[in-house]
Amino acid sequence: MPQRTVIVGASLAGLRAAETLRQHGYDGTITMVGNERHLPYDRPPLSKRVLTGQAEPESTTFPVPDTLGIDWVLGRAATGLDLDLGRIRLDGGDELAYDRLLIATGASPRIMNGAPPGPGVHYLRTLDDAIALRADLQKSRSLVVIGAGFIGLEVACSAQQLGVPTVVLEALPVPLERALGAGVGAAVAAWHRAKGTDLRVGVGVDGLATGPDGRPEAVRLGDGTTVPADTVVVGIGVTPAVGWLAGAGVDLDDGVRCDSRLRVLAGGRPVPDVLAAGDVARWTHPAYREPVRVEHWTNATESGEAAAMTMILGDSADPYDPTPYFWSDQHGVKLQMVGRAEPGSDTTVLEGSFEEDRVLIAYGAAGRLVAAIGIRRPARVMALAGQIAAGAAYPPQG
Ligand SMILES: Cc1cc2nc3c(=O)[nH]c(=O)nc-3n(C[C@H](O)[C@H](O)[C@H](O)COP(=O)(O)OP(=O)(O)OC[C@H]3O[C@@H](n4cnc5c(N)ncnc54)[C@H](O)[C@@H]3O)c2cc1C
Repeated sequence: MPQRTVIVGASLAGLRAAETLRQHGYDGTITMVGNERHLPYDRPPLSKRVLTGQAEPESTTFPVPDTLGIDWVLGRAATGLDLDLGRIRLDGGDELAYDRLLIATGASPRIMNGAPPGPGVHYLRTLDDAIALRADLQKSRSLVVIGAGFIGLEVACSAQQLGVPTVVLEALPVPLERALGAGVGAAVAAWHRAKGTDLRVGVGVDGLATGPDGRPEAVRLGDGTTVPADTVVVGIGVTPAVGWLAGAGVDLDDGVRCDSRLRVLAGGRPVPDVLAAGDVARWTHPAYREPVRVEHWTNATESGEAAAMTMILGDSADPYDPTPYFWSDQHGVKLQMVGRAEPGSDTTVLEGSFEEDRVLIAYGAAGRLVAAIGIRRPARVMALAGQIAAGAAYPPQG
């Protein structure tokens, strides 16, 4: 097996790939390049227990046993890739040669016009972001969260737990519509309001009004009104971190395009020994018509492992065909979703309701079960994941 493996992106997908390579006896070098100065850490707690103070930022660091034998290049960004020579370029100009490369650079927050990051204006992706936001939340008297996606709603729940008066502004009429569909998105919105979240939808944001110290005083809305805010969190989605690959010849299309075994495509053809995993990868999933990119924890774990297996087994590796899964912690309970809510899919409530903090909903399209969401129904959600993978009919039986 080739002896020099380079992983760009020192986080979940990259770490899982490194672990899998070692578990399967790879004894060459593994170099992990990360533009953050931290060892890999877990991001989900950053919008939850780290913000509320129930967990310390350092507790999020993943255990990395010395036996993994990773050479760390931290606090350095990859700035370019030369596929012909098998090298990546680092900021500062030096280069790193590889026999096998894993691209695992994740995603970065989309920056909103008129609300660039600055004092009192936060985007939440990194540990440093969470530390800065936590410090502001501890003294905040008015928080505005722009964007009612998962991160925005989780931040709002954490702020509510801290007793910070919070307003959530969402531009679309229904939050989370792309992920959950319109009906369930509306039910989640109603559930948040019933729990005391001041969630305002269909609200355009014009920009921020700042004080003489440069900190926000209010958020200016499209209708000319303002909402007071000494702290603002913008959560309007992320974009795959592919800037460093510009001009490298790799196919970029809302992420790094990959084949079904996570090999990177260039001009539509897989590049031997160059793979991608995690939030940055958009791969040909055997079960879906369109290539898929998933911005969730379990996919980062599983795709990191799958990419390593492709490195080891090549064409004999299984195609990467997971049933997507994610969770989100809101108002003290865990929402869990499996599959993908296709646009226009039908839904059936199988158990409970959001009001009861206990619910199970199935999604169907063209007579097939395609997704399910639940609160306090983990075993049934996982059973439905199995049925989705098996191509079960909708509505599900039993
Ligand atoms: C606050 C927060 C809460 C979340 N909560 C949940 C949750 O509850 N449930 C769930 O399923 N998922 C959750 N997620 C999503 C989950 O954490 C991500 O899907 C996962 O971290 C993706 O892992 P990754 O390794 O692909 O990328 P990332 O974790 O984004 O890591 C990529 C790394 O590469 C680095 N990098 C980028 N460009 C370069 C470059 N040019 N050179 C070197 N390094 C580079 C980045 O700085 C980063 O350190 C959450 C994410 C966040 C931010």
